[in-house]
Amino acid sequence: MKLENMDKIVSLCKARGFVFPGSEIYGGFANTRDFGPVGVELKNNVKRTWWKRFVQEDPNTYGVDAAILMNPRVWDASGHTASFSDPKMDCKSCKTRHRADNLIEDYNVKHGISMAVDAMTNEEMEKYISEHNIKCPKCGNSNFTEIKQFKLMFETHRGVVEGDTDVVYLRPETAQGEYVNFLNVQRTARAKVPFAIAQIGKSFRNEITPGNFLFRTIEFEQMELQNFCKDENSMETYEKFKAKALEFVKDLGLREEKLRFHDHDKLAHYAKAACDIQYLFPIGWQELNGIHHRSTWDLSRHQEYSGKNMLYLDPVTNEKFLPTIIEYSIGADRLTLALLCEAYDEEQLENGETRVVMHFHPAIAPYKVAVLPLQKNLSEKAKEVFAFLSKDFMCDYDEAGSIGKRYRREDEIGTPFCVTIDFDTLENDTVTIRDRDTMEQIRLPISNLSDYIAKKIRF
Ligand SMILES: [Zn+2]
Repeated sequence: MKLENMDKIVSLCKARGFVFPGSEIYGGFANTRDFGPVGVELKNNVKRTWWKRFVQEDPNTYGVDAAILMNPRVWDASGHTASFSDPKMDCKSCKTRHRADNLIEDYNVKHGISMAVDAMTNEEMEKYISEHNIKCPKCGNSNFTEIKQFKLMFETHRGVVEGDTDVVYLRPETAQGEYVNFLNVQRTARAKVPFAIAQIGKSFRNEITPGNFLFRTIEFEQMELQNFCKDENSMETYEKFKAKALEFVKDLGLREEKLRFHDHDKLAHYAKAACDIQYLFPIGWQELNGIHHRSTWDLSRHQEYSGKNMLYLDPVTNEKFLPTIIEYSIGADRLTLALLCEAYDEEQLENGETRVVMHFHPAIAPYKVAVLPLQKNLSEKAKEVFAFLSKDFMCDYDEAGSIGKRYRREDEIGTPFCVTIDFDTLENDTVTIRDRDTMEQIRLPISNLSDYIAKKIRF
């Protein structure tokens, strides 16, 4: 079953407790979302599998958890205070705000025009919009202001004394936390180049345009790592991470035909290469994952702005140098959205009913197992089984309604296994275990359940 648009995902997410609109009782708050009881499990599992693959299984990668608020000089060094902004235009007719590059991209998609919008200057974009008579998507007029640069960093203020207003920023990316700790990690971990520093954490961007559910939110979580290597090995590392990135999302269940590499048209002046992995979302091909060659730019800027020596000393050759950085970055929320879209399925059953089922990889499924007493008078035994299994796995417990309805509910949140407690369980301590995808059931002793499930959910 193909998803024509995001609506089915949005309503399932709300109805089943994956994702709610942010601050909903106050009418919401644009481009914010709250993960519910099922969604937080899903997203935590996505983060766990990522950390396992990229940190736990790689002896040369080290994790950090850096502060969101950093010394404002960090953002001078990174270039964000000077140039991190979007080209915005206001519609003079209906007063809505738009991104000039998005207006052009949408127009080009509609008219089958392929061109590199991100390489255009503000003047070129203004000219293009007026020459092609591109219209406001809200009111249909073509009556825009000039382009102004719109700052993307959220500002807040530090200071205990009233009127003391030192500006600080909510970080717009997590990567700077790795750069400033490069030598701390290198020394304490006794790491030798090449090695990587990884982080999962929140970032904040004051985006203008509304963002297609979880695809673009003003507060989001990044999973990223920075590889520090010798420049002569940098393209090899870049290619290695392209392959590793693709393998990871495929292993999580994204199908190969819905994934592709997209090389950037415009590179930063210091960069040797940059690409995205794109995924075919219901809104079209969109960026999922970025891999960027950053040369020695970041460390050289921090060396310059902090006045601290950032050189790495090679213990073998005694050579001192600034390592080249290969950045790998993926959004936890955006990947969760891709996995929701990929997992969604409507199946026609033999009895004519439609079954909605989320075919998540068992490793990321919110609940691994649901414990269901066939009848209410079996609930005491079922609670014993729940207490036993919940030591190992996130388990759901449900005794309300017919067993068929309970299976459907678990299918809709992607629970890979349902364990049913029936009257035989009281006799011989065995239960039935139902597979979400095949709907087949087998009978197992309670004592074998944990091993059976653990094997099936391994990532
Ligand atoms: Zn308008």
